[in-house]
Amino acid sequence: DEGLEKTKSSFLNKLSKAVAGKSKVDAAVLDDLEEVLISSDVGVATTIKIIDRIEDRVAKDKYLGTEELNKILREEIASLLAENEHKLDDDDEKKPYVIMVVGVNGVGKTTTIGKLATLFKNQGLSVVLGAADTFRAAAVEQLDIWSKRVEVPIVKQKMGSDPASVAYDTVQSAVKKNVDVVLIDTAGRLHNKVNLMNELTKIKRVMQKVVKHAPNEVLLVLDGSTGQNAFEQAKQFTAATEVTSLAVTKLDGTAKGGVVIGISDQFKVPVKYIGIGEKATDLQLFDKQVFVDSFFS
Ligand code: GDP
Repeated sequence: DEGLEKTKSSFLNKLSKAVAGKSKVDAAVLDDLEEVLISSDVGVATTIKIIDRIEDRVAKDKYLGTEELNKILREEIASLLAENEHKLDDDDEKKPYVIMVVGVNGVGKTTTIGKLATLFKNQGLSVVLGAADTFRAAAVEQLDIWSKRVEVPIVKQKMGSDPASVAYDTVQSAVKKNVDVVLIDTAGRLHNKVNLMNELTKIKRVMQKVVKHAPNEVLLVLDGSTGQNAFEQAKQFTAATEVTSLAVTKLDGTAKGGVVIGISDQFKVPVKYIGIGEKATDLQLFDKQVFVDSFFS
């Protein structure tokens, strides 16, 4: 798996050092393993959970060889990753499928929207973008560029207009034109939590005036290369609104891919997509088995 090269080589390298010259998993190996997981940005709570589980298995089986450690780690990590469903709802009543995209500026939100539009278009679905981050001129401009690049329409208003009004217009235009997927960009200003919560709640409420089921999904975009910051952002956004899925970006060029494991475990929200580059096609559907395998082989 090319996009995860750095995480993988760094993890495997540290793991092999932790077990070098040892034939069985003992307290020292477990200590080293704990270090490996924490330094791979899995997060403290999830690391402790994994170590506890391995300790239990050592206690139960009396002896655990270091060659078996890989297999057991793989199983334990896979069991911590939430399952996800990739199909969009094919219930016609629930058309259009509305994805409200949230996240802090700079994490790759706009890029992820462009990539998602590409993905859906390639599946033969029609898409419309809604520029509901009306706070930053650059946000609307960037989304506009993606709209032209991937040839999907965009609904926008002038700077500073009501984000909920843009979202309303976008969903209404989708209904009128029988569009399959609506991608709504939102502003991610974390410094004012109450405002953030109010803004996201209002966008939802107003979209529901057009289609009761909206949004089908609230996708939180996190920058995987920021490690513990991504945890903090997940905490704040899940407190502000009901997040249903995650996209973790910039996993190319970082060794911090372990965040995917910790965040999925701590927030019980499935990682649905991972970003592995800047191009329109650099988005992968997250498959936990493929992800775990790519860590170890
Ligand atoms: P936004 O402010 O959250 O909308 O962030 P942008 O979508 O504008 O992205 C910020 C920067 O991150 C841009 O330079 C993007 O090209 C870059 N970026 C986004 N996703 C990825 C990714 O998966 N990998 C890499 N390497 N860069 C990315």
